[in-house]
Amino acid sequence: MKDRTLLMIPGPIEFEPAVLEALGAPTTSHVAADFIEVFGQAIERMREVWMCPAGQPFIIAGSGTLAMDTAVVNLIEPGDRALVISTGYFGERYAELLKRYGAEVTILGTPPGDVVEPDKIEAELKKKSYKLMTFTHVDTSTAVLVDPRPIGKLGREYGVLTVLDGVCSIAGEEMRQEEWGIDVALTASQKAIGVPPGLALLVAGPEAMRTWKERKTPVSHYYGDWKNWLPIMEAYEAGKPSYFGTPPVNHICALNVSLGQILAEGMEQRFSRHQKIGLAFRAAMAALALKQVPTHPDHAASTLTAPCYPEGVTGQELLPKVKAAGATLAGGLHPDIKATYFRVGHMGAVKPGDILATVGAIETGLAGCGYEFEKGIGVAAAQKILLD
Ligand code: PMP
Repeated sequence: MKDRTLLMIPGPIEFEPAVLEALGAPTTSHVAADFIEVFGQAIERMREVWMCPAGQPFIIAGSGTLAMDTAVVNLIEPGDRALVISTGYFGERYAELLKRYGAEVTILGTPPGDVVEPDKIEAELKKKSYKLMTFTHVDTSTAVLVDPRPIGKLGREYGVLTVLDGVCSIAGEEMRQEEWGIDVALTASQKAIGVPPGLALLVAGPEAMRTWKERKTPVSHYYGDWKNWLPIMEAYEAGKPSYFGTPPVNHICALNVSLGQILAEGMEQRFSRHQKIGLAFRAAMAALALKQVPTHPDHAASTLTAPCYPEGVTGQELLPKVKAAGATLAGGLHPDIKATYFRVGHMGAVKPGDILATVGAIETGLAGCGYEFEKGIGVAAAQKILLD
């Protein structure tokens, strides 16, 4: 029997066949004319997907953590102050990373499921002068969505650079980098961008590039230094070969295919499709009487859902049963609440039918655990929204 288990974790996700074909195609030289064209086009397309026409895209082999790393190592100098707005595990990671590069870090955190209100951020900006602030657009450990608009605005008002960790959001959640005043927006390939793991992606706006150019001390990360990568990005975009480190040729070809698909769908349509899918999934979980980690629907992400296990059901019991019923899901990640919830990714190439199949598999798993509910109520709740 065909193995039809759906990969519904918050990245890596299910990928489009054309993307996988590009990944499996014969590898060309990294300085071949056709590859130079593909690389240049992927750079141009990133500006459109990030909605940042004046931004400088960087495509580097690595995971999302490298994108987080390069975003700040190029901007921070030892002793600079950085404010980390943390809504979970990945916010905490940013604080660790910044400290490693000598930043003086202040963390504004919340209990899992909550957001940091903009007035609290503003109060902190009034207290001290910061070089930059980071925030996680969607923290994958809590499924909490942070509104970048007030943060971008505060950044402009107080002269603080803003770094958006969009690993679980970009090309899924609405994100308009330039209009919203975000200086750096970063992601990885394996989530809503729709390419297997392997690429660190970011777009730096003019203010971030200016800050980097004016720094007094060298960047303390050889591989991640924009001095090494900017000439490469500029050369490929200008149709010329260049070399610093061998680019991941197949991954970049796959990225170009995926970015082409994203733009063919259209950014507005993509945002609203993700919103609808997120809404449908959350409605299904609510119909099954499963609580969720985000404390308010206004800050629940569209790219993933974090439902809590019902009383008497554990992850060890439920998740294998859901997998046997056809959907691979992820367990909890936030250290404070890890054992109390699970995570379902629904971004990128996900189809309404995948949502129904996943909710159906969760119902099968819950029934197998002896949880009582009206059979089919979750699937019906999702379908009602998907058909609207
Ligand atoms: N930030 C967020 C919000 C993430 O979800 C992840 C990965 N789950 C990362 C950063 C780190 O990305 P990677 O695992 O690709 O290094």
